[in-house]
Amino acid sequence: MLTTPVILCSVALSTPPSLATVSHHEIDAILFPDTGRIEVKDSIDLTSSQVETTLYIGSSMQIQSVEESEGRKLDFDVDPSEQPGFSLLRWTGAVSSRIVVRCTADFAPPAEGTEVEREYQAMEIAARIGPSGAYVSPAAGWYPSGAEELARFSVALTVPDGWLSVSEGRRVSETSTNEGTRIEHSADFPVDGVHLCAGPYVRGEAFQGETRVETYFFEADTSLAPTYLQATVGYLERYEKLYGDYPFTRFAVVENFMPTGYGMPTFTLLGQRVVRLPFIVRTSLGHEVLHNWWGNSVYVDQSTGNWCEGLTSYCADYAYKVDLGPAAARRYRKDLLKAYADYVSLERDMPLAEFTGRIDLATRAIGYGKAAMVFHMMRARIGEEAFDRSLRWVAEAHRWRKTSWSDFFDAFEQVSGRSLEGELEQWVERPGAPHISIEHVELIGPVSGSHRIDLEIVQREPVFSIDVPVRITTADHVIDRSVRLDGPSTRVSISVVNRPERVDIDPGYDIFRRMHPAEMEPTLSQFFGDPGRTAEAYGALRSADGAKALVAAISAPDASGEGREQDARAKALLTSKTPYPERLPPEAVYDGSGRLSIDGHVLDPENEACVLALAGPAGPELHIITANPEQLAPLGRKLSHYGRYSFLVFQSGRNVVKGNWSVDYSPLSYGF
Ligand SMILES: [Zn+2]
Repeated sequence: MLTTPVILCSVALSTPPSLATVSHHEIDAILFPDTGRIEVKDSIDLTSSQVETTLYIGSSMQIQSVEESEGRKLDFDVDPSEQPGFSLLRWTGAVSSRIVVRCTADFAPPAEGTEVEREYQAMEIAARIGPSGAYVSPAAGWYPSGAEELARFSVALTVPDGWLSVSEGRRVSETSTNEGTRIEHSADFPVDGVHLCAGPYVRGEAFQGETRVETYFFEADTSLAPTYLQATVGYLERYEKLYGDYPFTRFAVVENFMPTGYGMPTFTLLGQRVVRLPFIVRTSLGHEVLHNWWGNSVYVDQSTGNWCEGLTSYCADYAYKVDLGPAAARRYRKDLLKAYADYVSLERDMPLAEFTGRIDLATRAIGYGKAAMVFHMMRARIGEEAFDRSLRWVAEAHRWRKTSWSDFFDAFEQVSGRSLEGELEQWVERPGAPHISIEHVELIGPVSGSHRIDLEIVQREPVFSIDVPVRITTADHVIDRSVRLDGPSTRVSISVVNRPERVDIDPGYDIFRRMHPAEMEPTLSQFFGDPGRTAEAYGALRSADGAKALVAAISAPDASGEGREQDARAKALLTSKTPYPERLPPEAVYDGSGRLSIDGHVLDPENEACVLALAGPAGPELHIITANPEQLAPLGRKLSHYGRYSFLVFQSGRNVVKGNWSVDYSPLSYGF
């Protein structure tokens, strides 16, 4: 699954006292893809309380002139600043509040053969202009900025004939000039920065009510446009019903020459490989559309924690699982808890209040996963109807405002009339998760026609206050109760008429908690979550290039550290031998002729590779099995994306089987 960060420019985080404030930019820029050059003219409206005006400008920018609007040139200086990548632009003696700054930069790609292939590489790049396309972000400092958090922008970009450009806001005009095509966008809402995206695009168009829906795809992918347009219209309708009017007049899906997955106000920028993945229209596209409510119009106050990825994941990715049915939704919640257990050790944990954006699987398990579960639990506390009304209220009342977790909790309390005292503190402001166990269970009776279950539930320190679902199953009934845990130990007695057969604590994974190892089937995430994991090839694979490449790709970078030899740690075995039958869960069996069958699929070791996550004597094991080492090479960049699965089969790098071992034991269940 691909998920995507909202890019939030943090230029103004530490503000020198003398910075001026810019309220409006009117930008006219020209792009030269052949040389990587950009020429920018920015007419800014500013207020400065000082004789000397000081603004930030990207250190890559060459300042050509600073003028008053009447054309009078001002002397200026460019000095180093404390913000990496930014300089200070200063001048004195300005009379008017409208100043024109002209500057240029060279954002050409470094050299041939340095194509950006991985998402984490693309995230490091603030600007790039070349023959295949242009991407210029606020992090490049391509226009001057001051102490303001938000400003309004009008951006006209001239691109070569045959190219199109996209920026935040609505498209105002598109005219032919001597230098190419001049396309003007207007962000007539306050925004924390604007991007330039341009390339040899073909535009597709549809409407959802008054909202213009657009695709900007490369020629080779135009056949995908109708699918994207139709799906986007559907998402806009879905979310307008829930959270009120779409805040803008345009939404565009823009294909990028770099592998990005960004969501900006009014558009999303998706890498070409991503656009071509068939499941994106059912998953990430809706997530990006929804960011226009959560994150791109109701802004995140980063100083108190980024709530928008958790909320967007909950109302998009998770909601689409709910559409598929209760089993898919339960599986998704379990995967969130498992990811937290596998990737977030006690040392790596942090409060949601400190999450700003994902940098790895651990921060993702917190900022996306835990945050989504916090919204899930609050929805259970106040009810579905009050929850939806609260979100709609926040979407409307907090539009264009920096918004905190506490604003959501306030809305939940006011709309539902229920007290949520302590919830913000325990879920957002401190790290961790409840760890719950059954300490004692006893069945008494029948007495006077009813059976009584005496139950003691305990939790480790630090304790949480939680309503825990308890399910009692009789021969013909399922009875769901809720038990309030307020301390380290809680005793309850539950009476039922028919004889209970079993009792289960949180059987639906509705509470964010640290799972017991016994609840979790082995999955690839247990291997990838171990910072000391190793990989080794055996037998004929030992000398094969494909196996060597895979070993290098999946081993931990620091796995050879001293002292690690003695530790129990995760290990991957690359082998042509299948495991002994007694080591295999019921989903993997040998048929009469000794062939391994996984979830009904008979493995063909000459043309396939299979990956099995198993519990080993010294830690999690990954068995990667094939007779043909060429099957291994394509797996290096793929396997870590399949962390939630127990077994996988690939044919030449294409996944054909995936699934999870069933678990039939939980320390949170008891059978009578
Ligand atoms: Zn997102």
